Amino acid sequence: MQESVLQQHLYKLVLADIINPVNDQLASYYKDGAMLLKRSKSKSSSGFYVDRVGKRLDLIKLVKDSECEILDFRGKLVVPTFVDTHFHWVQDDVCLMPKDNLLQWLKKYTWPSESKFKNKEYTKLKSKLFAKKLLSVGTTAGAVYCSIHQHTVLASAKEFVGDFIFGNVLMTMNSPDYLLQTESDAIASVRELSSKLKKRYALTPRFAPTTSPSVMKMSGKMAKRNGSFIQTHLSETINEIEYVLSIYSSFAKFKKVLTYTEIYDRCGLVTDRTIFGHGIHLSDKELKLLSKKGASIAHCPTSNGPIDEFGLGSGLFDFEKCNANKVAWALASDIGGGPFLSMIDVMNSFVYQNKRAKVKSATYVMALNRATNAGAKILKIKRTGNFKRLNWANFVVIDDIFSGRGSDSGEKRLEAAFKTNSGIKARKKTENVILKTFYKGNCLFGRDNG
Ligand SMILES: [Zn+2]
Repeated sequence: MQESVLQQHLYKLVLADIINPVNDQLASYYKDGAMLLKRSKSKSSSGFYVDRVGKRLDLIKLVKDSECEILDFRGKLVVPTFVDTHFHWVQDDVCLMPKDNLLQWLKKYTWPSESKFKNKEYTKLKSKLFAKKLLSVGTTAGAVYCSIHQHTVLASAKEFVGDFIFGNVLMTMNSPDYLLQTESDAIASVRELSSKLKKRYALTPRFAPTTSPSVMKMSGKMAKRNGSFIQTHLSETINEIEYVLSIYSSFAKFKKVLTYTEIYDRCGLVTDRTIFGHGIHLSDKELKLLSKKGASIAHCPTSNGPIDEFGLGSGLFDFEKCNANKVAWALASDIGGGPFLSMIDVMNSFVYQNKRAKVKSATYVMALNRATNAGAKILKIKRTGNFKRLNWANFVVIDDIFSGRGSDSGEKRLEAAFKTNSGIKARKKTENVILKTFYKGNCLFGRDNG
């Protein structure tokens, strides 16, 4: 009875401390604030959008009780839901496995684990669990790496709620037998999935060492024709770069290629719909090429972090150099390279690692912008990323379990809500601080009611 009455409401009024990320330097903070949501009249896109954000005492005067549902989260923090621009959902089971280095970790744990997804029933079960996990950490958009198996794309595309793009990794060389594809199978999978999912598909060569250049070239053309994205890994570790160049130097058409980025470029994969994971060890020349083509970088601080902090020890991403070269970048969990799916852990690591390296411009305000707005822009998701008027009401309610409520600045308030110490147990708690996740104004996850 009550449910049907509530569904008639034209408005919802969210009462909370609200932070609205604007850019790297600014996040508007409404202490004791309110956000008015309005029901969309469009039949094709139902849900609630943001009408306005302001002070509670101002906004509460605007609505009549009969047409507005009050969502009272006073004292809690509300921020936009997160955009995770690079993660492997099929690596959920290897997040905390020992990580000596990237190539060893792939061979020893990751690839055997991904091979289990050959089984469709297993995939179905895992995709349902992972969809719940995404909502429980407040992630409602992102770029998803699946295994080589086409059904892992279809299962996750069916189950994950929000605005995601999906791609099956292509592995046609230098891969274990149990994950090796023929070139024609790899190309056929792109043809089928790209024409089916269009803009929700991402052509996903695992990385240049495992995907033959002819496959990258041919599938790249298909992806472009269908308006699909392209995602792959680039310059994550020094070892990897040496490995890539040693492989490609034996290919006649790549003999003169000097950089990792150039390899992808020769295959036609550096585009304004391309998202490269990591990009830590890039030269200025490579960054200029990325900038010229409008390609983006998914920066994964927890995955790149030191081995004793459960990362792969790949190094510190130089975001200032990236900015100087005008290359778009956003944050990502890179789960299972990163230990936790929570973008709060990712934001913490970004700030922590940069502060430790004396890069003072890395703040929580910047981290939040790069975990919301920046990712939405890269993935070209409309009406998402912050609480601008008419954007969809995608937001999370967060409990301050770490250091209590902060002061009047957005930076301090975010620090109070997010910051934890660097120990693994404390970091694990970031997976449990989201109280509720709302997508288009509807609550899809609540910790109190499961
Ligand atoms: Zn990755």
